[in-house]
Parts: sequence; structure tokens; C-alpha cells
Amino acid sequence: MTGRPFIQTPAAWLAALTLISASDVEALQPDSGKDPFDKTIRVADHLEPAIPRPAQQKAANAKLAALKEKTGQSPNILIFLVDDMGWGDVGVYGGGVAVGAPTPNIDGLAREGLRLTSFYAQSLCTPSRAALMTGRLPARSGLTRPLLTGENPTVNPWAAEETTAKLLGDAGYHTALVGKWHLGEMDGTHPHQVGYDEYLGILSVASEMTQAVDVRLYPDLLNKPERVEALRKLVLPEVTAGKKGQPLEVVKEIKSTEDMARLDQSFADYSDDFIRRTVKRKQPFYLIHSFSRLHNDNYPAPGYAGKSPAAFPYKDGVVEVDDIVGRLMDTVRETGQLENTFVFFASDNGANEDSWPDSGHQPWRGGKGTTWEGGVRVPGIAYWPGMIPAGRDSDGLFDIMDLFCTSLAIAGETDRISSKRYIDGIDQSGFLLANDGQSARQTVFFYSETTLTAVRWLEYKIHLRIFQTAGRRNIDESTLLTTGTAPWVYNLYMDPKERQSTGHRYFEWGLPRVVGFVKSHEATFVEFPMKDLGLKVPR
Ligand code: CA
Repeated sequence: MTGRPFIQTPAAWLAALTLISASDVEALQPDSGKDPFDKTIRVADHLEPAIPRPAQQKAANAKLAALKEKTGQSPNILIFLVDDMGWGDVGVYGGGVAVGAPTPNIDGLAREGLRLTSFYAQSLCTPSRAALMTGRLPARSGLTRPLLTGENPTVNPWAAEETTAKLLGDAGYHTALVGKWHLGEMDGTHPHQVGYDEYLGILSVASEMTQAVDVRLYPDLLNKPERVEALRKLVLPEVTAGKKGQPLEVVKEIKSTEDMARLDQSFADYSDDFIRRTVKRKQPFYLIHSFSRLHNDNYPAPGYAGKSPAAFPYKDGVVEVDDIVGRLMDTVRETGQLENTFVFFASDNGANEDSWPDSGHQPWRGGKGTTWEGGVRVPGIAYWPGMIPAGRDSDGLFDIMDLFCTSLAIAGETDRISSKRYIDGIDQSGFLLANDGQSARQTVFFYSETTLTAVRWLEYKIHLRIFQTAGRRNIDESTLLTTGTAPWVYNLYMDPKERQSTGHRYFEWGLPRVVGFVKSHEATFVEFPMKDLGLKVPR
């Protein structure tokens, strides 16, 4: 008798039916333990499971050891963080000249370094910055949404958090936050009180300053003296500074749109000086250069009005940001630190379409405030001549939180990470430094405040909840909806704009996997719960 043998076991039956091997099917049996699609290993209760890649980690560690041997010093870390820059604002991401604002310096970092095409931030300013600095999901640190005018949490979020700057400072680094903070304005929450040796910048955000000075944009506020008086009791528009252990100082009151226009040049001056001073002290530096731009409202700096081909203030701002990147990279070069400095360039969230035309561009669906790709998928470029192979592109997953663990790994200081807090970030030093290194991250979880809304896994984006928006109104007219029978699923290689969900139709095989990843993720909140800072908005 020819043909298929009589099938006796359910596993063999399933194998014959789906043309996959019997061994794969064995692994799929409910009692066989781990899901065969799950490539991660959890090494400790407080650490996010990662994909083990021992060979590339060994290569990265060898590179780091050789560099330290050569320089006799830990490497510097310089993070450029732009506010609200869209993926499509940057030349190497399809923007630049094509959208009327060339970015040759940022493009240069990518061309001589690693351009990440699946780099994810949080969807809003405060949570994204909190994630970057703590390595933790905002839901865990409690910094789940932007702090608005005069608003203070009921609990100091930093009382139980540790920043990368604090841990690297303990390890002998000289650290600074220059520019926008937006992680607390009350005493005890300032950058120089939570780990940074030096701070100069604005404690809040550009729009909070401009609403106090631009009567054309805010006539209903500024044309009424009693409102102005009340506003000034809540918050003063000013540039402040502080050094560890010393009080906050007011450097300059912001009185006009001209003062606003000059902010980023003054931040660049400070970072330039900080790098030169720290190098002279023969100390490694950790610097977050946190632009006030390109958050609304943009006013061109002196010499920048109409400098971009587009000639809009936002685009002139893009050109200025790019110039400042070039200027500070020159400083790193001039001080002889180019080969001993890990540089990372990122935006803190997608372009804010609500403030268009004072906003940027992205080719994705949605924008800032949503967990559609437009809110969270942003430029992410790693640059380190001699350490990161030039001209690489990678679509490996990288979360902004990973910069916490990765920075500590680059400094050789991961032992300083406490086991008291759950760390959602992953050490990606092997991914960045090894030739052809691959991401150690399997999934990215997206939140709206404390609600899990979506998951990225492989090339798939799975939405458990949906942001329904009205045109460009991603923040001011959005609704968060629960999905129906099936989660909404997009294959981002086939449908990068997330236009037609194919969840149940083509992803039946994947949905149970994602449900499993979400359940494991949610289980971590039992031992490491969400923190409530009193920021929840009544709904
Ligand atoms: Ca932002």
C-alpha cells in the first residue's frame, strides 16, 4: 500500500496537516514547557528576559576591554535627545532635503555608524525621558504622562528611582543634563538632585515657556492681567541651573520670543564647555544634550530665519538642531575624544501633528501621543568610530529604555543595577558593537499611561487597544478603544502604515504567542508593581 501512513498520534497528525516537522510539533504540546517561538531567557526576576547572544557579547566585551586598555579610561557617553522630531525629518530616514530641511551632520552619524530602523521611544515627552533615564517602563516609575503647567506629583517619583547618571556618577563619571528636563519641577526632582553633577536648562518644556510670552498664540491668557498674575504664581519661564548638592539657580528669565529663540544656542554653549572641562579633568563624561527644539513653539534662532529651504520656523529649527549636533561632534573631535565616545542620537517621540505646521513629519500612521508607529517609531542612530562598524542598518528592535542598560554595559558598570527595581531595558551592547550584532530584544510593549495598548514582535505590530484620532488631532481629539473579537495586527513589512488589520486572517499562528508574551509581561507587575504618583486624569 502506498500513500500516507496511518496517523496514530495527535502530534503526528498535526505535523502531517501543517507540513512542519514532528519535533516542532512536540515542542508545541501544551505540557512541553516553553513556547518554541520564545527565544528569550530570564536570568533574574528583576531583569527583562533577553535573547542570549553569547558570541556577539564576547566580541563586544573584547572590543570594550581593548579600548580601555588603549585609552586607560572608561568611554564617554553622549546622548543627543531631540524633542518631538519625526522619523521623516532626518535625511537618512527619507526626510532632510526631501522635506526642506537638510540634516548633513545627523546623516553623517548614521552613514559612519549604525542606523536603527526599529528604534522605539514612548509616545510622549515625560514618559520617554523617564524610560531613557531609569531603564523602566513609565508605568513602573509612575511618570506616565507629561507634567503640565504648575503640576506636581503627590509623590516624588525620584525617591525610589535611580538614573543612569547617578550610577555612572558613583562609578567616577562626570555627568550633566543640558537642556530640557520635564521630569519634575518641585524641590527634590531637579536633575542635579537625582544624579547629575551639573544641570543647565529648562525644567519643563518649550510650550510652557512660550505660553507666558507669545501674545499672538495665547491672547486669551496673556491679554488678561489677572490670568498672567495667576500663571506667574504657578511657574516662571526661566533658564535654571544647578550643581550636585547646591541650590537651583535662575540663570535667565525668559521674557520674549527672542529669548526663546536663543535657548538651544545657550544649551549648546554649555555642553561645549562641559565637554572641554570634563576632558581636561581626565574624567569620563556622561552627557544628555536634551534640545528644547523641536517642540512647539519654534522661533528661529538669530541667523536661522529662512535658513531652511522650507523656510518655516520648525524647519529652520531642524537645521539648527543639525548644526548643533555638528558643533558638539567637533568639540568631541577637537578634545581628542572621538574614538572614546559612544554617541547616540534619538527623538523622544514621534512628530506632534497636533501642532502642525509647527511640527515634523513621519511616514507612519498617527503621531505623538498615540502608539501607532507615528507616535513611537523614531530616529535612533548609534555612532562610535572604531567600535561600531560604519554604514550599518539594522531593523533589530531597540527600545529607548535599552540605553540605560547599554550605557552601564559600555561603562563596565552593570553590577551597579539594583535588584530592587524591575528593569524593562535590555543590554544591547552586543547588538551595537559586534560586527553584524543582532538585537537581544524580542518584544516592545507600548503603553498609554498605565494601559498596555500594543506590542511589537518580529515584523508584527499587535494592537490590544486602538487610538482613534481625528485627522492630525492625535492628542487633542483621540479616543482609546478596546479591540473587538481579535486584536488588530499589522505586518509592518507589508503594511508599514498600519492600514489593514489581518489579525485573525493571517496571524492565527502568532496571536497565542503574543498573548503568552503579554501574560508573562503582566506577571512581572506582581512583584514589581506600578507606582501611583497621583497623575491619573479623571475620566
Ligand atoms: Ca517630546
